[in-house]
Amino acid sequence: MAVDRIEDGVVVSLNYVLTVDGEEIARTEEGEPMDYLHGAENIVPGLEAALTGKVLGDRVSVTLKPADAYGDYDDENVEELDREDVPNADELEAGMIIEVEDEEGFTYLATVREVSADTVILDYNPPLAGKTLTYDVEVTALREADEEELAHGHPHGMDDEDEDWDDEEDEE
Ligand code: ZN
Repeated sequence: MAVDRIEDGVVVSLNYVLTVDGEEIARTEEGEPMDYLHGAENIVPGLEAALTGKVLGDRVSVTLKPADAYGDYDDENVEELDREDVPNADELEAGMIIEVEDEEGFTYLATVREVSADTVILDYNPPLAGKTLTYDVEVTALREADEEELAHGHPHGMDDEDEDWDDEEDEE
């Protein structure tokens, strides 16, 4: 069945430019759109809402407050560690984004805020928390998701480049 508008269960291909505080911080490459599964929280909620009902070729420009994007910045999500407890402290610099594993084996992304002689400060807020985001989007393709994609909650690509969805999220 052909899909003619964006609704839950549709795999959407987009070109987009993301602008924060007047500065472009991300864009899709020419001919390499981003795919996502609509209704599966693959993208920030405000962008997903803005795209509902849109059709192939539509262009959408939307500005999202933090609550509709990556949430407010939370000062509580910042942790100061003793430098001696951070095995690779010598390799860290302020601004780096690193993967941190907790005692139960869950991994989190953290931004290194500060490395001093005695301490390392890690920030677990998403890098875009607290930011107002502007997305300029063009809808370049629509198709119905298959059963496996719906079960996984993300699209599967036609080539190896898209396998990272499964590397990160699935046990198969
Ligand atoms: Zn999958």
